[in-house]
Amino acid sequence: MRRSNGHRVPGESSRAHADAILPLAAIRDRATTDLVLSGLDASGVAFALFSPDDELSYGSTAFAALFDVQPGARTFGDILRHCHAKGVGPKMNGPIDAFLAMAAEKRRSSPHRSFEIDISDDRWFLVNETLLADGWLWSVFTDITMLKSTERVLQLARDAAQLAADTDPLTGLLNRRAAMERLDAEMRAAFRDCTQLSLVLIDLDHFKTINDRYGHAKGDDVLRHFAAAGRQQLRGGDVFARIGGEEFMVLMPGTGIRQATQAVERLRSHVREEENRAGLCCTYTMSAGVAEYCGNAVEDLFERADRALYSAKHLGRDRIEQAP
Ligand code: GH3
Ligand code: MG
Ligand code: MG
Repeated sequence: MRRSNGHRVPGESSRAHADAILPLAAIRDRATTDLVLSGLDASGVAFALFSPDDELSYGSTAFAALFDVQPGARTFGDILRHCHAKGVGPKMNGPIDAFLAMAAEKRRSSPHRSFEIDISDDRWFLVNETLLADGWLWSVFTDITMLKSTERVLQLARDAAQLAADTDPLTGLLNRRAAMERLDAEMRAAFRDCTQLSLVLIDLDHFKTINDRYGHAKGDDVLRHFAAAGRQQLRGGDVFARIGGEEFMVLMPGTGIRQATQAVERLRSHVREEENRAGLCCTYTMSAGVAEYCGNAVEDLFERADRALYSAKHLGRDRIEQAP
């Protein structure tokens, strides 16, 4: 912490104005000014006053500690160079010169600026910069670490709630609501980018019979087995969802009807294989309808895939049909 001798303090340039709004006694009373500064300092607030050429004119004890201000440091640049070299004070990514150039562009760019900085010891500070007369800069640093950790906890809780709201609890796949949102988003993207998009609707065959014969719990095992098989067989970029009791949907961005049909064919063959059903009570099969997006509405694409699925059922099940 230090005061420079050479710099005019901002109030001096407009003494007449200051006199108009502050009691004369307070302005003239050096002791009052010192009391205010020492009171602010003792309260532990980190603040600093920089001259128009960015020399540190005054910094509180808390500011000096936060930025590890060294006796020889004169300018804002000196202080930050030291922080960067020693890994103390604010975290700075990349080379110091690039950081200082970025900071110089923003400093004094508006009368008031607020932004957050994270400190090497993992604390967070809110910086309030106020541009005073003639380019003097007043910076106040408020510790917001507690707020930040609360924000992080809330963010995690919100993410968890969102995940739960989007997930089917039995299979862990996306649920119908989330799947419809994705369908809408993928259709917009396909329309905008002129890319292919295929929709597959899948229904497990004679599922009622499986429930009736083996019980509902075993039926649930089959649903979980199918979800796992789909996760394994479909590509990472595909959207796989459970949209009803024994009904599933696969959305394949960037995929035409031929490739989409091949992918679902792989899944159909996989679940038929004895060796892929270890531990399961029974055999089961699936039927599917595939439709390719061609610039029509969501309902239309969905209906075309559903009609193709109906044909697959009608033509004997355990098969895949394409929408015209
Ligand atoms: P199809 O080949 O024509 O599709 O015949 P299906 O028996 O599969 O069709 P249907 O729609 O008649 O029966 C679907 C069954 O799926 C009826 C319902 O009890 C069962 N189901 C729906 N949700 C669940 C679930 O969460 N768990 C279990 N175990 N069964 C479910
Ligand atoms: Mg069904
Ligand atoms: Mg069924």
